[in-house]
Amino acid sequence: MNVDYLTMTIGKQKKIALIAHDGKKQEMLEWCEKNKEILQKHKLCGTGTTARMITDHVGIPVKGYNSGPLGGDQQIGAKIVEGQINMVIFFSDPLAAQPHDPDVKALLRIAQVYDIPIANNKATADFLLQSSLMNEEYAHEVENFKNTVINRAKSL
Ligand code: PGA
Repeated sequence: MNVDYLTMTIGKQKKIALIAHDGKKQEMLEWCEKNKEILQKHKLCGTGTTARMITDHVGIPVKGYNSGPLGGDQQIGAKIVEGQINMVIFFSDPLAAQPHDPDVKALLRIAQVYDIPIANNKATADFLLQSSLMNEEYAHEVENFKNTVINRAKSL
């Protein structure tokens, strides 16, 4: 057994964060409307404005964190660390500068560290949502952070 890694399970019901930059909010609303039936089966949350708009326009409950530029992306990153979010649909805008660009990068990075499925455009989101794994449990290996801390504290 490799003690450097832990087997974590993404349950059948996914805990999905939905985020859209301003230039992509309409696209997100249309995508959520199209995929309403699937999304409803899962636990949804998102950055403040995106969550509010989906709830209001699509009619599905989305728990809202702070607005992205005010720390919402960081809150979602922290929930990934805590195992409270295990999938991210993030329609980021590649053609507009974002005041919270470092937070966006931090979120992408932490999703990578915890091996969280993350879509950053509509096509990837479509492929993700149509995956048979959406209806199954998924076991994956993540770094054993407890052991890492113990080993680092000993060796540094
Ligand atoms: P918002 O944040 O949903 O509050 O607009 C999204 C973002 O820009 O990260």
